[in-house]
Amino acid sequence: MSTVAFIGLGNMGGPMASNLLKAGFKVQAFDLSETALAQLAAEGAKACTSAAEAATAADFVISMLPAGKHVAMTYTGETGIASVLRKDALVIDCSTIDATTARKVGAELAAQGIAFIDAPVSGGVGGAKAGTLTFIVGGSEQNFNRAQSVLSAMGKNLFHAGDVGAGQVAKICNNMLLSILMVGTSEALQLGIDNGLDPKVLSDIMLKSSGRNWTLELYNPCPDVMPNVPSSNGYQGGFMVDLMAKDLSLATETALSSQSSTPMGTLARSLYVAHQRQGHGKEDFSGIFQMFAKKN
Ligand code: NAD
Repeated sequence: MSTVAFIGLGNMGGPMASNLLKAGFKVQAFDLSETALAQLAAEGAKACTSAAEAATAADFVISMLPAGKHVAMTYTGETGIASVLRKDALVIDCSTIDATTARKVGAELAAQGIAFIDAPVSGGVGGAKAGTLTFIVGGSEQNFNRAQSVLSAMGKNLFHAGDVGAGQVAKICNNMLLSILMVGTSEALQLGIDNGLDPKVLSDIMLKSSGRNWTLELYNPCPDVMPNVPSSNGYQGGFMVDLMAKDLSLATETALSSQSSTPMGTLARSLYVAHQRQGHGKEDFSGIFQMFAKKN
């Protein structure tokens, strides 16, 4: 079985690496957090003291890091691990980062003869734990095919979006749309509540009407409409406002560079950044509902 180096064992990376171990891969792991590292070591991974040690002799190197600067630092420049990688290794970055950094990292690795794909995910912590993530891959057809064995141990749907960087572009288009749906669903539910409707009844009506969308189906933002979602648990767990604000900033940067018009995405970014600045950064992104709710 192949050896996988896994760098970044946070809310997403931890369970993803755990699923690789369950599928029989040998995992060499590294995270700045000793707790996260010890947790995966207890499941059978080799705990490494640096990204370079983890990547040595690995067939695949997977990273799941917060942002572009962490990915660039891991692979390129003076701190980068490119020099210790096997020439036939495949580097798979699953973090959500800007497409420009993904292309830059891909080009620098390619210059040293090492293959790279960007493979951001959709599906959240629940999908990471269940092994049902959607991977959105940017890279060559050949490298997309090479990645199938590892990606399918962590996910259910694998998409090839285009060349290096295309995975990141598709991912931020999706998250921009998701944020717009979350804000729109929140304001519509509150409008109903303010006019005497029961949010459960209104949700059922909209689910069978043309307002139906993913947030109503699986992630209702109004507390106590749906069990086992962050809104019914004080907006804890799930997908942090900080991360959504980051993704919306990436969408805005991308729109500026392609001179695209994204008025709804720009507004959603402003609302999420305002919500973040009110101290909700660590809460789930469905908590934007609170911005519309009437305080007693
Ligand atoms: P997280 O903050 O829980 O985990 C990041 C981990 O990386 C932490 O354990 C941290 O210690 C580690 N780390 C940071 N810098 C490092 C370095 N230089 N070397 C080694 N380890 C380092 O974040 P997360 O929720 O797991 O998200 C990771 C990525 O996945 C982000 O890009 C995020 O946008 C994306 N994502 C998250 C979700 C979600 O629901 N949480 C969903 C889809 C995509």
